[in-house]
Amino acid sequence: MGERILIVDDSRDIRHFLSEYILKPKGFEVITATNGLEGLALAISNPPHLMIVDMQMPRMTGLELLQRLSDRGLVIPAIITTAHGSEAIAVEALRLGVRDYMIKPFEAQQMEQAIERALRESRLEQERNQLTQQLVTNKTQLERRLQELNTLYSVGKSVAASLQLEEVLRRVVEAAVFLTQAEEGFLLLVDKREGELYVRASKNLDAAAQAMRLRVKDSLAGRVLETKRPLVLGSETRWQQIKTAYLVRSLVYIPLLSQGEGIGVLTVTNRTRNAVFSQRDTRLLAALADYAALAIGNANIFGATDRERSKLNTVLSQSDAPILLIEENGRLAMVNEAARLALGLPDQPMVGQLAAQAIANEELLEFIGQPVGPALGRHTEIKLPDGRTFDVDLKVMEGIGRSIVMHDVTHLKELDRLKSEFVSVISHDIRSPLTAILSYVELLANSGPLDETQTSFVESIRHSVRDITGLITNLLDLGRLEAGLDVSFVPCSVVELLTEIQDEVRPLITRKQLHLTFNVAAGLPMVLGDRQRLRQCFANLVGNALKFTPKGGRIGVVAGEQDGQVIVAVSDTGIGIAPADQPYIFDKFFRAADVVDSYEGSGLGLSLVKSIVDRHRGRIWVRSELGKGSTFTVLLPAAADQ
Ligand code: ADP
Repeated sequence: MGERILIVDDSRDIRHFLSEYILKPKGFEVITATNGLEGLALAISNPPHLMIVDMQMPRMTGLELLQRLSDRGLVIPAIITTAHGSEAIAVEALRLGVRDYMIKPFEAQQMEQAIERALRESRLEQERNQLTQQLVTNKTQLERRLQELNTLYSVGKSVAASLQLEEVLRRVVEAAVFLTQAEEGFLLLVDKREGELYVRASKNLDAAAQAMRLRVKDSLAGRVLETKRPLVLGSETRWQQIKTAYLVRSLVYIPLLSQGEGIGVLTVTNRTRNAVFSQRDTRLLAALADYAALAIGNANIFGATDRERSKLNTVLSQSDAPILLIEENGRLAMVNEAARLALGLPDQPMVGQLAAQAIANEELLEFIGQPVGPALGRHTEIKLPDGRTFDVDLKVMEGIGRSIVMHDVTHLKELDRLKSEFVSVISHDIRSPLTAILSYVELLANSGPLDETQTSFVESIRHSVRDITGLITNLLDLGRLEAGLDVSFVPCSVVELLTEIQDEVRPLITRKQLHLTFNVAAGLPMVLGDRQRLRQCFANLVGNALKFTPKGGRIGVVAGEQDGQVIVAVSDTGIGIAPADQPYIFDKFFRAADVVDSYEGSGLGLSLVKSIVDRHRGRIWVRSELGKGSTFTVLLPAAADQ
């Protein structure tokens, strides 16, 4: 059926004509009134889509009728028919919602067009009104969504930002109540030992309910934990029972899952209101439950870490060995009591202070500040003002910083000193008989011809005596260097020293079919030092490179200058040194386990080298990869700078 049209006209003929010939054939629903009053009543009780109103009617004119409707806030589209028209009436009529104005007599076609126009306008208007309404509804919904998202977002943020579990859970429950417009909300957590659920956080819950405990085994909440699925109970008829004497009309239970295990239940309820929870409520609650589970997981991890840390702290702080931890930014992260005492640090919290400012011991600071090779560890010895000597171990821990562990080796040093003294006395005493042996061996040949076997025996004796003499010389040298003897400082040319060494090793290079490259920067400055000792130092490094590099390998000697220092690097493509051995190769008598059986040596060479470099206020370090080769680098201050 088409739109409803009200005809108000006192002429029966016109009513008949409009209704039967114009409106009904087009499918409109027609109502008629014979005068203004009747028309008014009909229009009020059931407003039509359009009115066709006669202007001149007894008692109430068409305009009066429209005016009365307008007074009641009803503006209904209308077409006025009149015997004669005037401009004033037309203006008034337009104000009252008149869409068209027909002078009688009018033709059917004219009227049809007028009706069509009037209805089209009002249809458009209606459509527009509907659209506006729709927009308003959509906007309200969007605003609500936005609010929901904002609430979820802020809860999420608090989970990430706060380690205060209490605070986070309270916000979760508040958000749950707010978003679902529930009367109350609470979060139950499992007490595993008792097999019960207890209230961990709540909103609008009375004190008695806050103390509730539910058996996991035989409660609905417990079942939700086991099934790991939400439960929604709606309410039209029955009251739901959470616990004896605790009745609600509607509720939602959402399980909290942590690593697949049910750890609690988020709940919202309506106790008095007859409102049910929607699917959207369940979805929002599920998101909140996830946040709560995450927060609880975080808190557990944090708690466990914290306990471990405090255990570790106790161990470290009670250790007799001084221990320091320095962050990558150079600030102290930990200083134990032993370190505080050993380094004479003030009795106050040192954490967070710059190590370079807090520690007065220059030697230690310099050691800490030096770069560390790929072995990520170094050690050195440091003498403290109180006379104690410490062996200092430094380890670089990626992403954490540097740990420094110090061991008191004062008594070992004393033993070492006694041993050195002993060795030096003995070595002296052995030298004389050795010299005698060597002399007699030389004389043997003079006392008569030797056969082939005898000659080879003599050669063996000579070789062994030379080895022993070498060893003793090294030992004595070390003793002297450590005692600070025998070093004179004059300007020396490193280039000259290296060239001499190169000439010396050439035959061996050829014999072992090695490739030697020698690369010395032009105009290298002199270094102030002991020529003999420096030569010994470089000869040892090159000698090791030759010794530990198999046939066909490459040896490189490079010398250059950098920031007022002379750098000499001796590299090889030899057997390399395991990272675990690297911190010890400069120690006396240390030889890597894998070389002991296959290579000759005493393990004194590098300690001599290190002592010489130290005496020249230089530095030495190694970079090496097992099976690939090694590079020993020596830094010596250039003469001008000394
Ligand atoms: P050695 O008398 O054994 O050569 P050093 O004190 O000169 O004693 O060296 C100590 C140890 O360091 C060696 O035994 C060896 O394990 C290791 N080492 C030194 N130089 C090299 C090198 N160029 N390549 C591989 N390992 C080396």
